[in-house]
Parts: sequence; structure tokens; C-alpha cells
Amino acid sequence: MAVDPDRATGLGMRTETLMAPINALAVYCGSNAGNDPSYRSLAHDLGRALAARGIALVYGGGRVGLMGVVADAVLAGGGSAIGIIPEHLARREVRHQHLTETVVVPSMHVRKQRMFDMADACLVLPGGLGTLDETIEVVTWRQLGLHDKPIVIVDPSGFWRPLEALVQHMIGQGFASHAALRLFHVARSLDETFAFLAAAPAPRVAAAAERT
Ligand code: AMP
Repeated sequence: MAVDPDRATGLGMRTETLMAPINALAVYCGSNAGNDPSYRSLAHDLGRALAARGIALVYGGGRVGLMGVVADAVLAGGGSAIGIIPEHLARREVRHQHLTETVVVPSMHVRKQRMFDMADACLVLPGGLGTLDETIEVVTWRQLGLHDKPIVIVDPSGFWRPLEALVQHMIGQGFASHAALRLFHVARSLDETFAFLAAAPAPRVAAAAERT
């Protein structure tokens, strides 16, 4: 089930319906908090914004690092935080005990699939290799036309600039097309993030069966 890349990225002919109200967002972020206090502030502000807007957080289910910060902020704001955590990580990552809902899954693959399926769009905050893996997975699913949900890298500090540079390098070296840059959006603020989501075309592809 292929998707026209321009339509999938929202840059083609604007005949699409705009995004329906967003009920849930998947958030990928670090199980560490990073060195710069602004990362923690960003996660906290995102959590509060989700709660204020009545958007459920779908995330990895831990209480450590930025993952814990965003979940705590959602809960403190009266919002819903849903954790999807694999059995073998439930102890190691110190599973959050006060979530609205925790779903324990058998594997990392099922976790990524479940998080994606429950969300209307995906947001990326600063993080490590796990965050990178989760991000690239949904970006490549989108490249393959398996979905067209919006993916927003929320990056006020420029943390993810090396990833943008790497994609540019791949394009320059002939390993990716320019359309690769339209598979995800980089937002420099939370306001820009929510404005982008509000203006995004409604996803038209929801095939889960073909994903690995
Ligand atoms: P990190 O960015 O490395 O701190 O990891 C952030 C989250 O990504 C943690 O909840 C990790 O368990 C998760 N993670 C790491 N590797 C993977 C993977 N291969 N698939 C899904 N989640 C992962």
C-alpha cells in the first residue's frame, strides 16, 4: 500500500481533510534527562500542554529521565498518561507506578507497534539510542508508505541538528531523496508543534499488518 510521498508529507495538493482532533500522541524521549536543564523543562512543558489540551500521552512507561518528567507533568496537570512497557524492562527502567494505564507487552517490537497504533501522531524530544531507534522506525515506516501520521521532532535547542545533517548527507550522497526531509517536521517550539499538528492533513493510511 504505497502513499504518494508528497501527499504523505502534506506538501502535495492540499485537497486533504485537516487533522481530526488529536486524542493521543506518542512521545519518544530519553530514559535519561540529559545534561542541559532545558531538556527537562521541555519535557515538563510538553506534559503540561498535553494535559491542558486533553491529549493523552502514550509513551514507554518508565518513571526515569525525560520519560518520567513528561509523564509526571501530564498527571500533575490532570491528564492521561498511558505507558507501554516490555516485561523485561518493567523493572530495569523503573516502571512508573501511577499512570492512568500501563500495558505490559512481550517485546520491544510490540511496544513500538502498540505505541504507534494508539497515537494520532508522534513527537520526539531529546534522547539517546532508544529514542533514535523509535524515531527512525516510524520515519522509515512512513517512507515505505505504511502510514502517514505526522512525526514532529520538537527541538528548540537544536539537539537533533546532527540527525538533520545526517539525512542531508544521505541525500547529498545519493542514498535518500529530498522527500526524506518531508517525512518528519522539526519544530522549534511547542507552539509550532501544535500549530503544525492542527494544520496537518488527516492520516489516510492506517495499515498495521504490513509493518514488522
Ligand atoms: P534512550 O533514548 O536510549 O534513553 O531510550 C528511550 C526509550 O527507548 C527507553 O524506554 C528504551 O527502552 C526504548 N528503546 C530502546 N531501544 C529500543 C528499541 N529497539 N525498540 C523500542 N524501544 C527502545
